[in-house]
Amino acid sequence: MSPVSAPAKALVTGANGYLAVWVVRRLLEAGYSVRGAVRSESKGAHLKKIFADYGDKLELAIVEDITKDGAFDEAVQGVELVEHTASPFHFAANDPDELIIPAVRGTTSVLESVKKYGSSVKRVVITSSIVAVFGPYTGSVVFDESNWNDYSVSEVMEKGAAAGGYTKYQASKTLAEKAAWAFINQNKSSISFDIVTINPPWIFGPPIHELNSLDELNTSQSEILDTISGKKATKAELEQEGNWVDVRTVAAAHVAAAQKAEAGGQRIITSTGTFIWQDVLDVANSISPAPFKNIPKGSPGAGKTFPYTLLYDTSREARLLGLTHIPFEQMVVDSVADFKARGYTQ
Ligand code: NAP
Repeated sequence: MSPVSAPAKALVTGANGYLAVWVVRRLLEAGYSVRGAVRSESKGAHLKKIFADYGDKLELAIVEDITKDGAFDEAVQGVELVEHTASPFHFAANDPDELIIPAVRGTTSVLESVKKYGSSVKRVVITSSIVAVFGPYTGSVVFDESNWNDYSVSEVMEKGAAAGGYTKYQASKTLAEKAAWAFINQNKSSISFDIVTINPPWIFGPPIHELNSLDELNTSQSEILDTISGKKATKAELEQEGNWVDVRTVAAAHVAAAQKAEAGGQRIITSTGTFIWQDVLDVANSISPAPFKNIPKGSPGAGKTFPYTLLYDTSREARLLGLTHIPFEQMVVDSVADFKARGYTQ
């Protein structure tokens, strides 16, 4: 139970995902070796290509089904650090188990494999979410790591497939994180590793994972494109509030969580701040020369005086991880440049 510094070897699960490829990159840059777990050889090809300069510091492990007992038995052997990011992230599930089973079983199966075969593992960093923290509220609320979103779980238990798509995702992340902490409590006396959960809100910023077209953008970054392209058109849509963090900041959080001794055993909300979608338009419209012809205007400046009600206490993150956060303007400018580079023209 101690921090893990480079040059240790880290297993990254779901290594081909939007966030995970940035985690792999930041780990390699920091001097770690990485074993990237992906579902098939072909899903790892892009990783091998973009990190070719790192040679054998990046290897792949094929884990076809993360819900199977023993799925990670081989992959955890010989690593000192595990970064568990794999979990389905979308709001389109009909059967809640489509999200809940891989989220929960994926997490417990990593921990069970580490317990049995990961004798060198000292820390497991798990990507949770703010959706495991916040629930319904009235007025203006500041949530912190003591809060749990039990509401989403009750709602899904009660309504099943009829629950909302977002609620099903929230329940999957809440149940997965609870299962991780329960595993640690139940196995305290027989394990020699600890866990850290990183709980981010919306993650935005330029993707470096494999994307054949912008139609394949991951769930969160596609919201930025939807805003720029005018799919979010009404005042209500553009003035919906949220909290956000750049994908590169969250990747850095996953590395810092491995390196800081005091992070062990902690949930850590990793958030940069509040926003409304109008803020995305305001930054995009301020770029000169204009990157695209048809960026909607909306109600410029509406975010400056917006009465935010959903807030997070990020003091634990500041104290334990000491991250430098990428600012909102840079996230939007870099996202717009990425859309342009991928052929978006409107
Ligand atoms: P993503 O690009 O969709 O990546 C998800 C990863 O999980 C992929 O590697 C995917 O593998 C893997 N995965 C999903 N379902 C799986 C299954 N049933 N079996 C095996 N692997 C599976 O999403 P992301 O945005 O990077 O999300 C990464 C993590 O961050 C997730 O835990 C998510 O809950 C969390 N998170 C994301 C956000 C956000 O705004 N993006 C915010 C907070 C937390 P395949 O490609 O093979 O499907």
